[in-house]
Amino acid sequence: MQGILVPAPARIEACTDCEHDLEHCHGTAITHFDGTDDCTDDPGCRLAAEQHPFTISCSEVQCDCGIPLPGAGLAWGAGHGISA
Ligand SMILES: [Zn+2]
Ligand SMILES: [Zn+2]
Ligand SMILES: [Zn+2]
Repeated sequence: MQGILVPAPARIEACTDCEHDLEHCHGTAITHFDGTDDCTDDPGCRLAAEQHPFTISCSEVQCDCGIPLPGAGLAWGAGHGISA
């Protein structure tokens, strides 16, 4: 009998908030300049940025929502991950 137990890959499974049964999310919150938040873990996530372990500015993911382009309007989706 020489089975080797391989530890599970590093991943948040039960954090402090889990233990306290708090509403939270394990994804990374992306905060936009207009005050809205996105979640990398669940597109439908509606929790506040503070309820995520990590928060980044959308400018860090090449989102240009804070930079109105000249003649913008058509290109709104371009910076929001809706590119083809
Ligand atoms: Zn948790
Ligand atoms: Zn943005
Ligand atoms: Zn989330």
